[in-house]
Amino acid sequence: MNNLQFTEQAEFRQCFKCHYEAVTAQTVCPRCNKTAFFTASSIRKRGAVVIVVGLFLAGLMGVIAIVVGMLLLGQVKDPASAQRMADDQLTFLAIFGLFGLLIALGLQFVVTGGWMAAFGRRSRVLIRIMWGFLFLVFLVGGVVMALVN
Ligand SMILES: [Zn+2]
Repeated sequence: MNNLQFTEQAEFRQCFKCHYEAVTAQTVCPRCNKTAFFTASSIRKRGAVVIVVGLFLAGLMGVIAIVVGMLLLGQVKDPASAQRMADDQLTFLAIFGLFGLLIALGLQFVVTGGWMAAFGRRSRVLIRIMWGFLFLVFLVGGVVMALVN
């Protein structure tokens, strides 16, 4: 009988903090000492969760954008509110820009999660793109808040 049965197997692991990669049985990253040192199968499961979150975000924002768009179309028929909307074009542009960005962020989650599920590792480039989208979401969100107030 082998007595290694209950110890961790040496396998590919990737650190989500410092991106260190190695084939090892260690559960703590040897470079940054974080416990975010995940095996390929663990990264695949996390990828599946990221896909679900991304689909939910893109779907939810898509539905909200359609509902708000239909409400606005209804208001265009009334000349008074149509004039007010014409004066607030920048606000509507910013609001729909934010919806578009959140849908794009959701789809970006699907791509990032899909990559993790397919390859069992996280793509550094996709994570950077995700942070870029998040930055834009907060930027445009701030513009919307400023315009609405
Ligand atoms: Zn690390």
